[in-house]
Amino acid sequence: MSKALADLLFPHITKTPRDYFAQYPPRDLPVGAKVTRFAPSPTGFVHIGSLMTSLVCRRVAHQSGGVFFLRIEDTDKKREQDRSVEEIVTNLINFDLTPDEGYVSVDPLVERGAYAPYVQSQRVEIYETFAKYMVEQGHAYPCFCTEDELDRLRKSQEAQNVKPGYYGSWAIWRNAPLERVKERLDAGERPVIRIRAPYPNEGRVRFTDVIKGAIDMPANDLDSVLLKSNSLPTYHFAHVVDDTLMHVNPVIRGDEWLASAPLHIQTFEFLGLPIPAFAHVAPIAKLDGTSKRKLSKRKDPEANVMYYYEAGYPVQAVSEYLLNLANSSFYDWRKANPDQPYQEFPLRLEDMGVASPLFDLVKLNDISKDVIASYSAEQVYAYGLAWARQYQPRLAALLEADPVYGVAVFNLERIGQAPRKDIVNWSDIERAVGFFFDALYEDSIAASFPMPAYTPDVVTAVLDRVRAFDPAQTKETWLDEMRSLGETLGFARDAKTYKKAPDQYKGHFGDVMMIVRVALTGRTNTPDLYEILKIMGRERITRRMDRVAALISNP
Ligand code: GLU
Repeated sequence: MSKALADLLFPHITKTPRDYFAQYPPRDLPVGAKVTRFAPSPTGFVHIGSLMTSLVCRRVAHQSGGVFFLRIEDTDKKREQDRSVEEIVTNLINFDLTPDEGYVSVDPLVERGAYAPYVQSQRVEIYETFAKYMVEQGHAYPCFCTEDELDRLRKSQEAQNVKPGYYGSWAIWRNAPLERVKERLDAGERPVIRIRAPYPNEGRVRFTDVIKGAIDMPANDLDSVLLKSNSLPTYHFAHVVDDTLMHVNPVIRGDEWLASAPLHIQTFEFLGLPIPAFAHVAPIAKLDGTSKRKLSKRKDPEANVMYYYEAGYPVQAVSEYLLNLANSSFYDWRKANPDQPYQEFPLRLEDMGVASPLFDLVKLNDISKDVIASYSAEQVYAYGLAWARQYQPRLAALLEADPVYGVAVFNLERIGQAPRKDIVNWSDIERAVGFFFDALYEDSIAASFPMPAYTPDVVTAVLDRVRAFDPAQTKETWLDEMRSLGETLGFARDAKTYKKAPDQYKGHFGDVMMIVRVALTGRTNTPDLYEILKIMGRERITRRMDRVAALISNP
């Protein structure tokens, strides 16, 4: 009977699961090697949580000598979005997460690997073969219920106050005679294929989740859909079939799938397949007021990977931040190994939190500052420019106009034991060092010019001395000179002297330097002035002093 039903439903399927086991033999990998996958549905932007899971998957695979691949789960054609696959692959490539198998490049999409196809909509025949086998074994059956019928079923269940769902005697197609199935098929109707779950089922499902530890759940008793009427599989069935044929172990996935693990385990068992290890990853959460909630695709811009590109966070910073969310020991490892590539962090799935890690922009900023501070000026210039070309073309043009100057600007206080940590991300460049560029300096002094209110002769005398700056002078000599100039102009040598008799002085040395600072940069807060002067060079200094002289004589 089951064989006849299977043939009736799948007359075109001539293969058996055995054929696919032969086609996709076990991988030839060292003992203990892990095979992991990132299995996104192409339904929109890449979530930062998916990126964290991919990082984890790739690390787990590679540190064990295994394989990390990409599988596109495009079985919900209604929710699919244009270019979503390309976006996924591009993000993986950008984040140095290029998979070993599946799509490895875009435009054109190129697929690699012996377990192809890696796109579920291209694997329909495989799912049908496994579904046919399950029907043959009596573990699955066709169901022709319409949405309306299912709705009515639900309402009756509600009215009778019993568990909702398609199961046991509520499953009206569970034991339908072959003749009825044939009638419907002949009328052109297409059934879904459901699992035949034992009912009632008092059994328990017990396993050890690599992250969550001991799991003990009621066994499945619902006749869930395995194949939809268009022959595309549900997530549940595709997971079992694909992760088996592609030899995935462990299955690392979002913990929203934990609830359906009993159904998956039942399906593996019905097919006589070994059950892989599971690692259910808690989603990244954020604090909303005092309550903690999942980072939401709709509400939180920082859920979208694009957010980090736009703000100009280096890939390394985002990756290190995500590793830190995944394994809190990352921080100590980084401190102990400041020069090691983050790709070498020995990640442990067992150390991932059972609870959701909290997203924290302040922490990301700290990490990003450290990462940028560890770059050479040439790297900062190159990465900053690449970002600016896309998001701040004006800044890009300024950086490109004089690459030597650009690199020198980023070299400011970069060398030495404690490099300057003033750039959080590339969109911070203008704020941190924009004053070095004439056009931005002009904008800034046009908007506000915070020159302290001294008489023009005092300011002019200071400007003239700045004009005479000699880069061959040491910092000490220059500072001494400026101090003496201050004294001749009526400023105290230092703040202490000034405080003792404030009415005898115009101000103190710091006030003299403030005149220099504002004239040179248009700002009241800057890195070391001597360094700035050296980078700016004679010509630019002269130009700026002329500009300020004109401004104070003609405000
Ligand atoms: N396509 C599923 C999702 O996007 C994959 C889950 C899994 O990794 O198994 O949630």
